[in-house]
Amino acid sequence: ASLMNVSVNDVISVCLNLGMFVSINQRLDAEAITIIADEFNYDVKFISAEEEIEGNLISNEEDVEEDLKPRAPIVTIMGHVDHGKTSLLDYIRKAKVAAGEAGGITQHIGAYDVITDSGKKITFLDTPGHEAFTAMRARGAKITDVVIIVVAADDNVMPQTKEAINHAQSAGVPIVIAINKIDKPNANPEKIREELAKENVLVEEWGGKYQSQEISAKSGKGIDELLEKVLLEAELLDLKANPKKKAVGSVIEAALDKGRGYVATVMVQAGTLKIGDILLAGAHYGRIKAMLNHKGARVKEVGPSTPVQILGLDGAPQAGEKFNVMESERDAREIANKREQILREQSIRTRRHITLDEIGRRLALDSFRELNLIVKGDVDGSVEALADSLLRLSTDEVQVRIIHKGVGQISEADVMLASASDAVIVGFQVRPSVNARKAAENEEIEIRLYSIIYDAINEVKDAMEGMLAPKV
Ligand code: GDP
Repeated sequence: ASLMNVSVNDVISVCLNLGMFVSINQRLDAEAITIIADEFNYDVKFISAEEEIEGNLISNEEDVEEDLKPRAPIVTIMGHVDHGKTSLLDYIRKAKVAAGEAGGITQHIGAYDVITDSGKKITFLDTPGHEAFTAMRARGAKITDVVIIVVAADDNVMPQTKEAINHAQSAGVPIVIAINKIDKPNANPEKIREELAKENVLVEEWGGKYQSQEISAKSGKGIDELLEKVLLEAELLDLKANPKKKAVGSVIEAALDKGRGYVATVMVQAGTLKIGDILLAGAHYGRIKAMLNHKGARVKEVGPSTPVQILGLDGAPQAGEKFNVMESERDAREIANKREQILREQSIRTRRHITLDEIGRRLALDSFRELNLIVKGDVDGSVEALADSLLRLSTDEVQVRIIHKGVGQISEADVMLASASDAVIVGFQVRPSVNARKAAENEEIEIRLYSIIYDAINEVKDAMEGMLAPKV
């Protein structure tokens, strides 16, 4: 009532007219609030408690254009197992991290940065694979600017290659293809380009938009060229950040170290992080006692696109959690506590993610435009047939999008992708793995299993018409 500047009695009488018998100290749900506000000609915009906190964080304030300075791209390497992701990361680290600098031996802290021959910086996340990438996305972190997808030239475009392509595309992150192992006598890069074309990834040599580079992670051949192509891709993105403000960024990894307490690697994405800053990440906070780079050297401050290990937090935040720097320890503690309370409430409240049952309600709230689906099946033919039929269910109101499809059991990676993109998983003649089932429970992802294609299509169709009978 006070937000709309009307009397409480007016609101109550509208409720009564709508058949809702309410009293002054009763809480209304989102749907009721929307309908009542509409009666008074108001539109309602819901923001979460978390968004309210976010809006009050100083380092999230808009930057003025002149403070924005170019920053280095942050890169993730993905691809099928054994195609050479780790070898490529190792080669780049060894070749490009200047030897003999303070610290000496490089430490694995989850990320590192290198200076290329052309004098430009690139930052690598060194947990290869799309699992980490997607898990971070599911937590809301947008860290990666460019993805390198490695394909071994003596092998084929494999299921995980396709998965990596889907994951990068659904995150809207540009891809550079690295065709690896060209030193091998049986390498056939042309075949890889052809197979990529079949996946709708046309490389430049084939008249497409994707840059690709033949490399050997063993000898190092082609790697400088690959890095230049990554830089080219980054240039198009015109990456900028304001180094002047208090730091914001994301947690890469965190753990309890026996001697040093909680140790976290964070990626500074904007601003400058300094020793003594009070850092808040998720429900954890603390004053930064020390910072170490990936060479193990102590640093006093770091700017945007720099990974750094920090000491001083009161716990281990989750990978992908955003961090902010706070004015005072008191502010940090207050928000950390509030977040913990939100987390607790969320775990007992409704589902965070879409389910078929939920579609009808969201349609009523007019907040539903796209239904994201992941389709897994036992054979290629049925996956294609099912995906095609589901796509054709699109209406003017609701667009169906198949964000990933594939043959094989429903994996943990599928669930994390569903979580990152708010999707429902449809399985045909397949089951989720044990880990996938656990992940689906944690992430609250709906998995629907079918053994008849017709049933799958009908249930999704009914749900989209808001007619699915609720399960009891
Ligand atoms: P990942 O599973 O994608 O991280 O793959 P790895 O980096 O572990 O590589 C798998 C295997 O391929 C290892 O035995 C590597 O030594 C080998 N390998 C990786 N890159 C190359 C390459 O460019 N040439 C050759 N000949 N072998 C490679």
